[in-house]
Amino acid sequence: SRREGFTAIPNVKWEDVGGLDCLRKEFDRYIVRCIKYPEDYQDFGVDLETGFLLYGPPGCGKTLIAKAVANEAGANFIHIKGPELLNKYVGESELAVRTLFSRARTCSPCILFFDEVDALTTKRGKEGGWVVERLLNQLLIELDGADQRRGVFVIGATNRPEVMDRAVLRPGRFGKLLYVPLPSPDERGLILQALARKKPVDVSVDLRAIGRMEACKNLSGADLSALMNEAAMAALEEKLTCSESCSDLTPWTIKTSHFERAVGKIS
Ligand code: ATP
Repeated sequence: SRREGFTAIPNVKWEDVGGLDCLRKEFDRYIVRCIKYPEDYQDFGVDLETGFLLYGPPGCGKTLIAKAVANEAGANFIHIKGPELLNKYVGESELAVRTLFSRARTCSPCILFFDEVDALTTKRGKEGGWVVERLLNQLLIELDGADQRRGVFVIGATNRPEVMDRAVLRPGRFGKLLYVPLPSPDERGLILQALARKKPVDVSVDLRAIGRMEACKNLSGADLSALMNEAAMAALEEKLTCSESCSDLTPWTIKTSHFERAVGKIS
């Protein structure tokens, strides 16, 4: 599902996301339940927010959350990388934007995810020139047509919200701003636990304690994923090294010693 624009329901679950409970609650209210119980939202005349901007340092779960929202809602997911949209269709990027929204409507409920959205929405007249200008205008037209795009939610992600054109951040466009921070020490533990779901981590390992280690200070979710991978690699190497001398009955798991070695490597 890495191909640009590929449409499917992603297989990322909320359990794969460590921490970020606040964001989960917000998206539950604004998107997931709205897709699951549309009549109720209509009955209560709730005005829906359909555009969101996730901002914050790289590797902290913006893409992951957007996918989990789609999975939870049973919605299709279209992943667009801002710079690619800009460069791949030079001269035709307005058409590309129109086509995208039209495709999203066709496969609604759908989440349209714009990664590195700042590339599309840099303050007009500054960096991008006329290509960005025209693309941005088309994007605004589509965003403003929210009434016609029932069941299509737009989520943008950026590490540099400050360079974005203010016009895009107005209500009804990427109107709801949500900060995705670096994890706290406890959240690092939660992220490690989420990542451990798919790895044979030994029950004796205290992931919360590892998350609180000084050496893990300032690590992002992506860094923690790399840490988990290093630990798995250490365990695997140990297994392969002594596979002849040890019995096959030994359960091979990732142990605290492997995490310690991995932490030593990254710090
Ligand atoms: P960027 O701004 O660089 O696009 P991002 O905020 O979109 O980054 P993701 O792509 O969601 O970050 O995260 C990269 C990887 O890091 C994920 O695939 C996952 O393995 C891990 N990761 C990041 N945050 C979390 C989290 N909160 N819980 C579990 N894993 C995480």
